[in-house]
Amino acid sequence: MQRLYLSEIHMGIVEKLKKPFTLVLRVINAKLYEKLVSSQSENLALQEEKRALRDTVRQQKEKLDLRANVVWEKPFYWLKDGAGKSERVCPKCWDSDEKPIRLQDKGNDVWECLNCKNLYYGPNYVRPTNRQGPWQNHPFDFLKK
Ligand SMILES: [Zn+2]
Repeated sequence: MQRLYLSEIHMGIVEKLKKPFTLVLRVINAKLYEKLVSSQSENLALQEEKRALRDTVRQQKEKLDLRANVVWEKPFYWLKDGAGKSERVCPKCWDSDEKPIRLQDKGNDVWECLNCKNLYYGPNYVRPTNRQGPWQNHPFDFLKK
C-alpha cells in the first residue's frame, strides 16, 4: 500500500484543477480587458464632452463680458475697454449678430462699418455747403443776373 502524503494529495488536486482555473482566469481577464477598453473609450468621450462644455461656458462668459461693455449712445454703440476708452460699434451688426464691428472714421464725424458698409453720422457732422462738379453752380443761377 502506497502512502500518500498530504502535500502530494494537495499537489494532485492543484494539478487537476490548474487547467480549468487557468481557462476561467483567461475568460475573466478577457472580460476585464473588454471592460477596460470600453471604459477608456467612455472616458475619452466624457473628456471630449467636458472640453466642449468648457468651451461653451467660456464663450458665454465672453459674450456676457462683451455685452456688459457695449453701451448705446445714439447714434452708435460704444465698446468700452478696461482703460476707460471707447470705440464706436456698428449698431446694425451689433443688433443683428452681436458682432462688435468697430466703425472707421471717414472724416467730418462720418463713420463707416466695413462689415455691412453702412454709414453713420455723428452729432458733429456738418453737411457740406460748397457744391462741386456739375452742381458747383445752381442750375437756375442764370436767372439771378
Ligand atoms: Zn455693420
